[in-house]
Amino acid sequence: MPALPARPHFLDGRPWPAGSSCGGLVFDPARGEPIARVPFAGRAEVDAAVGSAAAAQAPWGEAPLGRRAEIMFAFRQHVLGHSDELAALVTTEQGKTLADARGEIARGIEVLEYACGMPKLLQGAHSSQLATGVDAHSLLQPLGVVAAITPFNFPVMVPLWTLAGAIACGNAVVLKPSEKTPGAALRLAALATAAGVPPGVLNVIHGDHTTAGLLLAHPGIDAVSFVGSTPAARQVHERATAAGKRVQALGGAKNHMVVLPDADLNMAADAAVSAGFGAAGERCMAISVLVAVGAVADRLVEAVAQRIRTIRIGAGSDPDVDMGPLISAAHRERVLGYVGRAAAQGARLVSDGRMRIPAQGFFVGPTLIDHVTPAMDLYRDEIFGPVLSVVRVPSFDAALELVNSHACGNGAALFTRDGGAARRFEREVQAGMVGINVPIPVPAAQFSFGGWKSSLYGDLHIYGPDGIRFLTRTKVVTTRWPAAAPGRLDLGFPTQR
Ligand code: NAD
Repeated sequence: MPALPARPHFLDGRPWPAGSSCGGLVFDPARGEPIARVPFAGRAEVDAAVGSAAAAQAPWGEAPLGRRAEIMFAFRQHVLGHSDELAALVTTEQGKTLADARGEIARGIEVLEYACGMPKLLQGAHSSQLATGVDAHSLLQPLGVVAAITPFNFPVMVPLWTLAGAIACGNAVVLKPSEKTPGAALRLAALATAAGVPPGVLNVIHGDHTTAGLLLAHPGIDAVSFVGSTPAARQVHERATAAGKRVQALGGAKNHMVVLPDADLNMAADAAVSAGFGAAGERCMAISVLVAVGAVADRLVEAVAQRIRTIRIGAGSDPDVDMGPLISAAHRERVLGYVGRAAAQGARLVSDGRMRIPAQGFFVGPTLIDHVTPAMDLYRDEIFGPVLSVVRVPSFDAALELVNSHACGNGAALFTRDGGAARRFEREVQAGMVGINVPIPVPAAQFSFGGWKSSLYGDLHIYGPDGIRFLTRTKVVTTRWPAAAPGRLDLGFPTQR
C-alpha cells in the first residue's frame, strides 16, 4: 500500500505536524479503503493547543465588536467561496452525496451569518432610575476557551454551530473533530485564519475519546460544547461538569414521524423517504420511525416501498447517486445486525437493504421494516443507518404516547391536514424540534438547535440565542453617581423604593 498522507493538527494559525505516535486511519467509505492517517493528540499536544488558545483569547476578547464582525463577514465569504472544495472533502471522508454536502455547508453558513450580527446580539440591557439616582446595565462577556467536540456526520456544519458563535463572542476554540472525518475542520481553520481570525483563536487537534477526555479535564478549558451519541454525551456532561465546566452535550436521536389518516399521502411518503434515507440515515434529524395511524398504514407502506425502489446507491461523488455508504465497516455490520434481529423477532422486511449492497465500500441498501414493536431493539436504539421502521398504532393518542415514551426527544414530525391535531401535537410532544408537515425541522439560525430527554444533557441548546447565552458570562452593573455623599449610614438591605 502506498504511504498515506497524514492530517496535521492546526495550531497558532498553521498546520502542526503531529508529534504523537498513536493515531487512526481515515477511510473513503465509498471504496472502503484508507486514504489518510490521523494523529491522536496526547497530553503535550492538548496542553499546547489549550495554552495557545488561552493566550490568543485575551486580546481577541478585547477586540472591538466591529472588528470581530468584520472578520466573521470575511470568514463567511471564505467558506462560501470554498463550498465546492469543502463539499468534495466531506463526500470523500464521510460518504454523503455532493448535493447533501453542499446542503450542510449552506446550513453552516447560515450560522456564520447569524454570528456576523454579534454587535447587536451582544447588546446588554439597561434600566434607568431603578432607585433614586441608581441605574443598572448588563454586559455579556466572553467565557474564555471553549472545547468543541464534534461527530463524523456533519464535518462542516456541526463545528460551525459552536465555533461561529464562540469566536464572534470573543472566545477562543479548541476543536476536536471526529477522528473519522478530520479533513474539513482543518480547512475551516485555515479559512478562518485567512479571513483574519488571529492565530490561536481557533486550534484544531485530532483524536478519539481519549483526547476528548484530556480536554474535558483540562483546567484551561472553560466550557465544553459536545455533539455526538447519547452514551458519549451523557459521559461528557458528567465528566466536564464534575471538572467545573459549563457544558452542553447534544446526544443521539430516534425521530418519529406520525402520519394521520387525513394526511396528503404522497407528501408524507416523499418526506418519509427523503428524511429516512438522505445521508444514508446518518443524520441526527433523520426520520427512523414512521408511525402509521389507523387506516393509513397499508397505503403508506406501499407508497414508501415504491419510492425506495427508485433510490440509486453509490459513491456520493457520482451526481446520479441518491444515497452513499455508511461511515465504516464496523457501523455497517452493526446496522445489518439490527435488521437481522428484527426479522427474527417477527417484523416484516418490506424492502431488504441487505439485497442491494455494492461489492465495494461500506454500503447498506435502503431498508423498510413494517410491524416493528416498541419491545424490539431496532425500535429502542438509534440505528443511524438507512433503516426505516414502521410502527402501526390505532389512534392519534396512541401515537403521541408512543413518541413520548421513547428515551430520545430530538425531533418529531406530524403529517396531517387537521390544524387542531397539529396544535395538540406541537404542545404535547416531548421533543425539542417539531415539524408539522416538515420531516426534518432543523431550526433556522435565529432559533437554537437542541433536543429533550436523552438527546441533550445540559440546559441550553446550540447556536442562536441559546448559543450566545452558553458562550458568554453575564455581568450586571449597578451604578450610582451621587452629586454629594448621602450623609447617613444604612445597614438595611437595599430596595428599589
Ligand atoms: P460519537 O459519540 O461516537 O463521537 C462524537 C465525538 O465525540 C467524536 O469527536 C468522538 O471522538 C468523541 N467521543 C466519542 N466517545 C467519547 C466519549 N466517551 N467522551 C468524549 N468524547 C467522545 O458520535 P459519532 O458516531 O461521531 O456521531 C454520530 C452520533 O452523533 C449519532 O448518535 C447522532 O445522533 C449524533 N449527533 C447528534 C446531533 C445533535 O445535534 N443532537 C448532531 C449530529 C450527530
